[in-house]
Amino acid sequence: MNIHEFQAKELFRRYGVPVPKGIMASTVGEAAAAAARLFEDGVSFVVVKSQIHAGGRGKGTFKEGFQGGVQLCKSPADVTRVAEQMLGKTLVTKQTGAEGRIVRKLLIEIGSKIKKEYYLSILLDRQLSVPVMMASTEGGMDIEEVAKKTPEKILKQPIDPAVGMMPYQARNLASRLGLDGERIQQAVKLMQGVYKTFWECDASLVEINPLILSEGSDGTTHLMALDGKINLDDNALYRHPEIQEMRDLSEEAPLEVEASKFNLNYIKLDGNIACMVNGAGLAMSTMDIIQHFGGSPANFLDVGGGASKEQVAAAFKIILKDPHVKGILVNIFGGIMKCDIIAEGILAAVKDVNLKIPLVVRLEGTNVKLGQQIIRESGLDVIPAESLSDAAQKIVAAVKGLK
Ligand code: GDP
Ligand code: MN
Repeated sequence: MNIHEFQAKELFRRYGVPVPKGIMASTVGEAAAAAARLFEDGVSFVVVKSQIHAGGRGKGTFKEGFQGGVQLCKSPADVTRVAEQMLGKTLVTKQTGAEGRIVRKLLIEIGSKIKKEYYLSILLDRQLSVPVMMASTEGGMDIEEVAKKTPEKILKQPIDPAVGMMPYQARNLASRLGLDGERIQQAVKLMQGVYKTFWECDASLVEINPLILSEGSDGTTHLMALDGKINLDDNALYRHPEIQEMRDLSEEAPLEVEASKFNLNYIKLDGNIACMVNGAGLAMSTMDIIQHFGGSPANFLDVGGGASKEQVAAAFKIILKDPHVKGILVNIFGGIMKCDIIAEGILAAVKDVNLKIPLVVRLEGTNVKLGQQIIRESGLDVIPAESLSDAAQKIVAAVKGLK
């Protein structure tokens, strides 16, 4: 699950990671009121930030023409004008794809004077099997570009989860970033807070780009998180009811939301062959083999080991709601799940949706004969397949024949 920047910053505050003071607003009126409150503190400017589950907002463009999903504003009137250009409008960034995202919320924040921008993140290193904190002096840039062109500018610190992030590890990173004096102490507190956010929230990624050294009106400098991105591990969400509350369904693909209601693991992809498979491993090899035979999968769908007839029917309808789908491949290994149950689920769904595209079914395992018999006797136009490669070749051929 992803959350918004303002929610990430709320979690940061809990773990002692400094962030600018800010207020979330859902309407132009709320934005104006928030700005009025922040300007009361005597700040010279505030920042209006579009809240969508995608980065690159600063350099993004609204479909309606307005430039930039992050705006610096010098007065409440400025904030009102900017909020009107953002709320309800569609922001397109490098990360949203061409369709963009509708902005429904804004974060109004006290503006910071930036002395220097850094990059800081933490994620699981699959090779080392521990969390790794990454830091760079190249903040505010596209970090993938930095990793490609100047990998030596990305500093890495593995962390042993049994003891957490040690102060010396943070001091080491801080000094390699070129920080000195009191900034080192600030960095230690901040980095340990970021590690704690990652660990205690069961996050899969925490990223701050940019982390900034801000200059106060009195000339003092402070490190703080100017941006915040947190991805959470769905499998651990049950341990965090207060984080679950942060879920914003309007930011998620509608079909994926529908699938999660039925406990189905569905991820939409760009191809045209829909897959219905049980087990994540089998689902992945099915996608691979479709690709191998020149096709392109429209989705990942794991109906799980013990799916019911209702779940199968729901899964079938969900994959068909994707307008790009030109054919369906069902590949089920009946272990806990029985092939006759699958067959009945498919029939129920097919009758309901009036299927007009090719359907290849490969069943194997428990009650396979019964399952095949149910499908054969249904009178439905189903292409039976013997093996995984046979099934993949048949659906690829059938879909190509449609063009
Ligand atoms: P992103 O474009 O989605 O990554 O959004 P960010 O939160 O990173 O904001 C984009 C850019 O806006 C930052 O990299 C900063 O350069 C700028 N920005 C954001 N907040 C402030 C601020 O308080 N002061 C100044 N001077 N610039 C800001
Ligand atoms: Mn950013």
